[in-house]
This record gives sequence, C-alpha cells and structure tokens, in this order.
Amino acid sequence: MSRYWSSLIDRLTPYIPGEQPKQQNVIKLNTNENPYPPSPMIKEAMIGEMDRLRLYPDPNADILKDAISKVYEVSRENIFVGGNGSDEILAHIFHGLLKHDLPILFPEITYSFYPVYCALYDITFEKIPLDGSFQIRLGDYIRPNGGIIFPNPNAPTGCIRPIEEIENLLKQNPDSIVVVDEAYIDFGGESAIPLTKKYENLLVVQTLSKSRSLAGLRVGFAIGSLPLIEALERVKNSFNSYPLDRLAIAGATASILDRNHFEKTRQKIIETREQLSKKLENLGFFVLPSKTNFLFARHPEHDGKRLHQMLRDKGILVRHFTDPKINQYLRITIGTEEECEILTKTLSSILKAG
Ligand code: PMP
Repeated sequence: MSRYWSSLIDRLTPYIPGEQPKQQNVIKLNTNENPYPPSPMIKEAMIGEMDRLRLYPDPNADILKDAISKVYEVSRENIFVGGNGSDEILAHIFHGLLKHDLPILFPEITYSFYPVYCALYDITFEKIPLDGSFQIRLGDYIRPNGGIIFPNPNAPTGCIRPIEEIENLLKQNPDSIVVVDEAYIDFGGESAIPLTKKYENLLVVQTLSKSRSLAGLRVGFAIGSLPLIEALERVKNSFNSYPLDRLAIAGATASILDRNHFEKTRQKIIETREQLSKKLENLGFFVLPSKTNFLFARHPEHDGKRLHQMLRDKGILVRHFTDPKINQYLRITIGTEEECEILTKTLSSILKAG
C-alpha cells in the first residue's frame, strides 16, 4: 500500500464501544444501558407504523419534534432530531460547527468519542484538566471565537456542574459555540435547555438511550438557537436527509410522551444508585458523587484492572479504562436492585479473598 494511503488510514483512530456479550447469562453493567424495558406505549406505536414501511419517513420527523416541543417547552424550530443516537448528532456538530482556527476545548477526562471525532474531522483540541476531586472547572474554559464541549454530568466520572456555572461560562464565551452533552441529565441533574432561549451560542444534546431505555433504537436530539439548528440541518442534509426511520420516529415519539414510565424508571435508578453507592462505601470503595446511571469507584487496596477481571470471571461486566489517570476506577452501570445486590455480594467475596 502506498505511504499516502497508509498515513490517511493511520489517522483514523476509531472509538471502541463497550463490550456487547453474545451470551445472555451475564450481569451487564458496562455500557450504561437502562435495566428496565422502554415504555410499553412504543410497541403499539411501532406496530402501527409497520404497514407504512414502504413509504419514506418524514425527513423532518415532525411528530417527534412536536412531542419534544411539548415536553421540553421549546419551539419545534429549535429542535434537531437524529438517528444513530446522540453520537451521530455529536458527529454533525464536530463536522459542521466545531472546526475553528483555535483548538476546541473539552475536559481531560471525558467521553472518549470527542478526540475520535477531532481526528476524523481534522479538528485540533486542548484538554482542560479536572480539579483534584474530578470536577470540571468551567472557569478555565475561555475561548474567544471557538468551540467548547463537555458532558454534564461528565462521563465516566458521573460528576455534575450547577447550571449557574454553565451560565457564567456562556457569559464569558459569547462568541464561541458551547455544546453541553446531556446524555445522563435525567438522573438527577438540572438541564441547560432553558438557557438555549437566552444564549444563541448554546447547543444542548440529549439521547433516548439512557433514561428512556432506548439504546437499541438509536435516537438523540439537540436543542438550540435557530442558526445552530439550521446549521445542523444543513450538515445532516448534506449526507443523509432521512436521519430517522419510521419505526424510530414512532417509537421515540411514544416514549417522549409517556411521562409516567419515564418518571418511574428514572426515580428507581436514582434510588438504586444511592443504595449501591452506600454499599460500595461500606466495602471500602471511594465513590465519586454521581448524577448519572453509573458510579465511578475505586478501592484503595485493590487494583482496578484486577477487580474488573475478577468480576468478569464471575459473569459481571463493568467498565475499566486503561488511561493511567483513571485506571484504578471501575465504572459501574446501575442495574436492577437484584443485579446490584449480586454485584456487592460478589465484590465482598473478592475483597475478602484478598
Ligand atoms: N454522550 C455521552 C457522554 C455518552 O456517554 C454517550 C453514550 N456512550 C453518548 C453521548 C452517546 O449515546 P447514544 O449515541 O446512545 O445517544
């Protein structure tokens, strides 16, 4: 192969998704999926759509935008919906909105897809260190005319910054595009969506994969000012004018409108998270405060990689990262109460065995 081609290929450093095991009998706490089924309403909605599958879907997914508009109290024109999860919306954002002369800013420890998109779209970036308690220091993000992106709450730490700090950041960076990735916001955080009415440079991205139990349907949405949403529509229409298929539009719409199911399952996960956090602390773990559907925890006397492997040997999958700054930590998705009980019992016996 010529040098030219191989150097192009070398520049592509893809994201490695969490393991999706083939066998069924594992306790899967490694990719932050919801342990509960999605709203029962979506079945009927999707079956009702089957007979129309011969027709192309609505390229604007207006019924879904109307549902989001109603529930999140924003106008339809301020909503972008996208297929293949919020990951693809993030891809559009990096591709179309975050290319600047100056490096874009994001946290040093954060969602590992961001540097992957930067490599793909030739975007330079600067990583801003977290503080000693693993918190994002939003006061350090100053960029005239550039781009800033961070998850709130952050991943994989689970820590959240208050909305007042996000507003300060927006005031300090009026000429930069600020993207808040709210993949986990429904598990106890305050969304920045209301700020999109006040700050034209803010884009908030959410997903139906976590709090709405629809990781398999691959739907996300973004909310922002007219110019930013229009920009995203242009990027989308430049390579795929049908971002969502008919089944995804129908299922996602039903899910957004079923507020009871949403409230019930997210409250259950929050409760289980708080219980699991206490149980891990009782086992000697240091657990970061989480506003997500996962916990980030390390044991001062036990190696993170080894614990991850020992859990795995016993049929429990959690996430471990090789970055030396966080390689003592385990990221544990909140499962059902029963799954979390098995996890703590297994950890307890591993720790006792030494
Ligand atoms: N942002 C963050 C911070 C995430 O952890 C994830 C899930 N891996 C996503 C975005 C994307 O999720 P999805 O593509 O399923 O919407």
